[in-house]
Amino acid sequence: MPKLVVLLGHPVRHSISPLFQQAAFDAVGLPYRYRARDVPPGRLPTELPRLRNGRYAGANVTIPYKEEAFGLVDAHSRNAEMTGAVNTIVVDGPLLVGHNTDVEGFRRAVEEVAGVSLAGRRAAIIGAGGAARAVCLALAQIGVQSVAVVNRTPERAARLADELQERIEPALHAVPLRDSVRLHSLLARCDVVVNCSPVGMAGHDGGALPIDPAFLDGVPLVVDIIANPVRTRLLEEAARRGARVLGGLPMLVLQGATSFRLWTGREAPLAVMKEAACRAMGVADWT
Ligand code: NAP
Repeated sequence: MPKLVVLLGHPVRHSISPLFQQAAFDAVGLPYRYRARDVPPGRLPTELPRLRNGRYAGANVTIPYKEEAFGLVDAHSRNAEMTGAVNTIVVDGPLLVGHNTDVEGFRRAVEEVAGVSLAGRRAAIIGAGGAARAVCLALAQIGVQSVAVVNRTPERAARLADELQERIEPALHAVPLRDSVRLHSLLARCDVVVNCSPVGMAGHDGGALPIDPAFLDGVPLVVDIIANPVRTRLLEEAARRGARVLGGLPMLVLQGATSFRLWTGREAPLAVMKEAACRAMGVADWT
């Protein structure tokens, strides 16, 4: 009987995780099956207990359920505890253990793939959901000086900043997305801007922009963690203005490699995963 791993999110049909995770299981000869399951709003509490039926090795959790999943699992890894968000679940006997591999995925994408050192730098992130929490912790581990959390719903950004400030060193502050005067002057002083919102994601809004790209003039590095498309309109605009840019595909594959290791106890075949992800996206390289 093959072991199952499921991706739970809404929407999930544009995700390429099933393609590169299945390629990885097949490459190492493990009888695992990875499937995506669209979970309608409100259904996660009834969906998660199904992981305990003996057939599952674990799950991935994606937009918009990473924070909700945190409250539904039985135990947490340190990074999950620190972020309050879960993107990977490991079935351990009767227990569902929540992990957050987005933290390592983002850190490795910046440090190893982009080869950038952000220690002592000023960062801004757009979005305050599950992914933003992971990126915030990763930026803290990298050693940034400060993180401005810019969000459409200011209360959510304030909650993220308050909660994480108790656990991490960089100065965190919340900024409302709609306060364009403050946003413009803030971004002008930033060394890196990271989009952690789904604005611009395939199947979400047809290539919209999360912020006025004119605000990115002079920002040296712009990261968009959206993996599909590989290069969002935000990144196109930022590159046109002279910024160095990094898309979300390396983070996606690297977080997936850590999840693979957690489910199987085996080192992930990273080259296989990277190649399958690039093939799925129709690109020669993940950057
Ligand atoms: P989430 O928990 O649902 O959070 C979404 C955030 O984006 C919230 O702060 C939300 O603001 C904001 N947002 C949503 N729609 C918006 C809009 N139309 N205008 C302005 N802000 C908007 O989602 P998530 O799990 O953090 O995922 C966010 C994105 O990151 C997704 O595109 C996901 O695919 C991507 N991601 C990529 C990777 C990777 O490995 N590359 C990993 C994780 C996530 P409000 O608070 O106002 O609702």
